[in-house]
Amino acid sequence: MNPGDRIRVTTETQTFEGILLPRSELEDEDHITIKLDNGYNIGLRGGRTEVLGEEEHLQVFPEIELEKKEGLPEISMIATGGTIASRLDYRTGGVHMLMEPREIFFTTPELAELVSLKKVVSPFRVGSESMTFKEYPIIAELAAKELNEGVAGVVVTHGTDTLHYTAAILSFMLQGLKKPVCLVGAQRSPDRGSFDGAMNLICSAITAGFSDIGEVVIVMHGETSDTYCSVLRGTKVRKMHTTRRDAFQPINGRELGRVWPSGSIEYLSDYRAREDTDVHADTALQEKVALLKAHPNCNPELLNYLVDNHYKGVLIEATALGHLPTDTVNPEYSWISAIKRAREEGVAIAFATQCLYGRVNPYVYTNGRIMFNLGVLYAEDMLPEVAFLKLAWVLGHTENEEEIRRMMLHNYAGEITMRSLLERW
Ligand code: GLU
Repeated sequence: MNPGDRIRVTTETQTFEGILLPRSELEDEDHITIKLDNGYNIGLRGGRTEVLGEEEHLQVFPEIELEKKEGLPEISMIATGGTIASRLDYRTGGVHMLMEPREIFFTTPELAELVSLKKVVSPFRVGSESMTFKEYPIIAELAAKELNEGVAGVVVTHGTDTLHYTAAILSFMLQGLKKPVCLVGAQRSPDRGSFDGAMNLICSAITAGFSDIGEVVIVMHGETSDTYCSVLRGTKVRKMHTTRRDAFQPINGRELGRVWPSGSIEYLSDYRAREDTDVHADTALQEKVALLKAHPNCNPELLNYLVDNHYKGVLIEATALGHLPTDTVNPEYSWISAIKRAREEGVAIAFATQCLYGRVNPYVYTNGRIMFNLGVLYAEDMLPEVAFLKLAWVLGHTENEEEIRRMMLHNYAGEITMRSLLERW
């Protein structure tokens, strides 16, 4: 028998059927591993084995034609990679990216009935942890093109690791957006019984095709069961768990709505409403921007390094209300001179809170006032990742001090709220 074959193993007490997986380098000669039909793997020692089918049948994926369906809204899909666009490679036992974007129908054939899929494009396929500032403009331009050509909405399939970064940058880049751009991923791979990608994809297609929301949103499981998906504003959302299917949670904001796979949509808070107007992809980004995190014992030489290396902006995840070490026992650990020097050299410095919930405020402690007086920009209740990408986007447009401040504190896509909310996850 060969890896990929469907086999039956009969032990003294039980019978198991599944796909034979290749032996990993850590497995010994006495065991085999099979993938059961429920998606889980089991290691077995001994037993009688029979081959039920050859490996070929595993490679067949249904071909679904993209055709215009009367009466259904048209959407386009941009496939970028991640678990949602993956399948098990039976030769290596690893999860691999799909070879053809249309293979996504293999996990979610219902899509073909729900909406009229105009196009599935895959400009690149990378794990979202490997994204750079080169990929964001490509997604933004493709989305704008599809929307301006008349589709009702766009779905972007994406890895979940940095799904919220992409949602944030698209929220800034897609100027004038008044149609849904839905980012969607999967926390569990398609070979597992707990695969969440199909339902997430269905709900995102419903949101893109039928909802009244004209914003960049993340559409992912709202709870651990397969009940509904939450529609979350692209600038007020974060991955808050490594494995839970409801990992994406609103921070300093509320769910915009909920979508059920049956097709119903519930609206829960204010959103920008859909309108049929053109969107402009404004994609200028400054590459030399960094995100630093303050912590006990953090050394200001980190900032000096960035200034020496010609960084134009630094977003610091400061502690709580927006503090950095200033009154350290050892003066070498005070950040005052490093911040002063960075500012003198024209580097934009902004603080967001590492608490995530709540907002920064320079007026409560002396430490905050010192930083504020040195010209640090306090980024209100923006999430650190959102403020980091906004800084890169703003610096892509201007190097003028006043303009940087004005743009950073301007609310483009719901990233700044006027009032802090009581709710938190
Ligand atoms: N790390 C990969 C990514 O973010 C896969 C994880 C996932 O999609 O959940 O693309």
